[in-house]
Parts: sequence; C-alpha cells; structure tokens
Amino acid sequence: MSDDLKPCPFCGWDAPYVRTTGLETEVYCQSCTAVGPLVHSVGPDEDVDEVAIELWNRRALEARIKHLERERDEVWNAAVEAAAAAVRQALVDAAHSHRGQEGKLTSAFFKAEDYASNAILALRKGADHD
Ligand SMILES: [Zn+2]
Repeated sequence: MSDDLKPCPFCGWDAPYVRTTGLETEVYCQSCTAVGPLVHSVGPDEDVDEVAIELWNRRALEARIKHLERERDEVWNAAVEAAAAAVRQALVDAAHSHRGQEGKLTSAFFKAEDYASNAILALRKGADHD
C-alpha cells in the first residue's frame, strides 16, 4: 500500500481500514460504519487495496473541501451581516443625534442605506465567484 488512509470524512475517525468481502473491496469506518466506494475489479497492473484507498481518500478530500467551503461562507456571511449592522447602527445614531432635523437627514439617510446595501450585494457577488 503506497497511500495512507485519510480519516473518515463523516466522523473524523482516523483508523478506517480496507476490507474485502467476497469479490468486493472497500474502506470501512468502524466508528460510524461509512463505507466505500466499492471496488469490484481493477486493471491488471492495479492493486485492489490501493484503488479502494485512492477512492476513499478522494472522497474524503472532496468532503473536506465542501466542509471548508461551507465554513468560509458562514464566516463571510457573518462578516457581511456584522458590517451591515454596523453601518445601519451608525446611520440610526446619526439620525438620533440630529433629532429635530430629520427632514434634512431623511434623504441622506436613505442614500447612505442604498450605498451600504449595494456594497453588501457587491461583496456577496464577489464571494460567490471565489
Ligand atoms: Zn466514520
């Protein structure tokens, strides 16, 4: 075996193993019972254990990438929400400190709100294309 088995992508168990049942070989996680992908046959120059490990590791890697992407999106969204909340609070504070002059402030307030909303949309678009 040339490749080390990566930990289980579902439960993180670090000691899954290769098992063969009849004509099928797969990697098995004894912690959460995750299996596969199942290997039925391999080419003449391939080792069935190595193929099973390669497939398992690839899936583990893909699952890890998806997990990290989800985490990144959560962090990004939280940052955008926090920035939006800060901008809105600053606008509300400004309006309060100019009480009595709301007539003058209203259009500036909504203009600033528009700018903030557009900036947030632009940030979200940027995040989607990364
Ligand atoms: Zn597992």
